[in-house]
Amino acid sequence: MEQTLLLNASYEPLKVVHWQKAITLWCQGKVEVIAVHDREVHAVSITFKLPSVIRLLRFVRIKRRFDYVPFSRANIYARDDYTCQYCGKVHPTSELTFDHVTPVAHGGRKDWENIVTCCVGCNRRKGGRTPHEAGMGLMRAPRRPESAPAIRITIGLRDAPESWRDYLYWNVELEDDAP
Ligand SMILES: [Zn+2]
Repeated sequence: MEQTLLLNASYEPLKVVHWQKAITLWCQGKVEVIAVHDREVHAVSITFKLPSVIRLLRFVRIKRRFDYVPFSRANIYARDDYTCQYCGKVHPTSELTFDHVTPVAHGGRKDWENIVTCCVGCNRRKGGRTPHEAGMGLMRAPRRPESAPAIRITIGLRDAPESWRDYLYWNVELEDDAP
């Protein structure tokens, strides 16, 4: 394992970097070493253990793509916790669809504020009506998500070193194999 987990100053995982990059950041005084691997490296006059987890000393604000949540079926379902916004039940993706709260025929747009997760049954029941016309209330008003729910570190948790786990469990999407 020659990889180092880079944390923000807030201890939030940012990304995985090669240990040489980690050493460079450390030499530049930008990070502190939080945990080390067992493996040692020998330089000319010093021996040190490979950094396993490092933390930025100055907080960096994550901009870029994380601010923008693509308007997609998957993200709508995720925003609504796979819960039909009319009957309030959680459904498998195969039984979910999305619903225009204000139907297109009534001027409803296809955007975060007008699209909700809906089960097939409720979708059929509501038809081309507004929630008011159909007498169906929404669980909560649909909104544009502020940011993506989690920064996804592209490494399987099974492969992650023990020293990373405390940090990864904070906001990495876990495999759905829990009992
Ligand atoms: Zn429903």
